[in-house]
Amino acid sequence: MLAVTMDDFNLPENSERALERDLRIRSALPVRAAAFVSGKNETRSTFDRVLSDWADDGHIIANHSYSHMNSSENETEVIIRDIARNHDLLSERAGFEPYFRFPFLAGGRDLAQQDDYRAFLSDAGYIVAPVTIDTYDWNVTARLEKPGADRARIGDYYLRSVRTMAKHAHASALALGLKNLPHLMLVHHNALNALFLGPLLKTLQSDGWEIVDAKTAMDHPVMAGPPPRIDGWGNRLNLLRRAAGVEVPAFPDELQNFGTPAMDALGL
Ligand SMILES: [Zn+2]
Repeated sequence: MLAVTMDDFNLPENSERALERDLRIRSALPVRAAAFVSGKNETRSTFDRVLSDWADDGHIIANHSYSHMNSSENETEVIIRDIARNHDLLSERAGFEPYFRFPFLAGGRDLAQQDDYRAFLSDAGYIVAPVTIDTYDWNVTARLEKPGADRARIGDYYLRSVRTMAKHAHASALALGLKNLPHLMLVHHNALNALFLGPLLKTLQSDGWEIVDAKTAMDHPVMAGPPPRIDGWGNRLNLLRRAAGVEVPAFPDELQNFGTPAMDALGL
């Protein structure tokens, strides 16, 4: 089982392109997904329309901070104000639910800052949504922008690398004793997913993954509960593994450094 969570919503300046991209992305979603929106994108003319369309389709609108700063590299007060600013922007919108995701998954530079963020978010009624399946789609989409980019080969690589990542996440969860964990996959609202989110989800389904409701996955105790209290942030399975001292299958070589060496080797 995996649910789709989509972050940022850095919409293109060109309205027609933004709406076309968004329609392709929404059409690929078979069940309720969660949109983690950074409010700084409100400067885009399509911002309102896109969020309304997501809500109309039944998806969740959630908080990804206003400015998309790194919470581990800035002062606590600055970040808290920024999260609150995004709350004010989004919380009256249709579809809004109080889920929060840290930009870069950065939950604080040390335990003290992590605790401060946790206390603030919990007092504000927020549930923090972690990630268990990364896709590195932000790194792959950069290849699409290169002159002479071969879309088909980039798409093939994207599907193959995410299958590998999902398989690794599944094996890691099993090693941690989490048999029926509904995974949370992170993708971004970008050109790559306008082209390939549909084929990606179909490929994952053919591998046996069931695409499930994002709310169900985010409310699962392992996801909605506090992360292990260790100094670190990032993928939830990685934190759980470190906290438990459990050996999990080695991270796939081809995904090292966000897939950059693998894509370079393929000439993408
Ligand atoms: Zn983000």
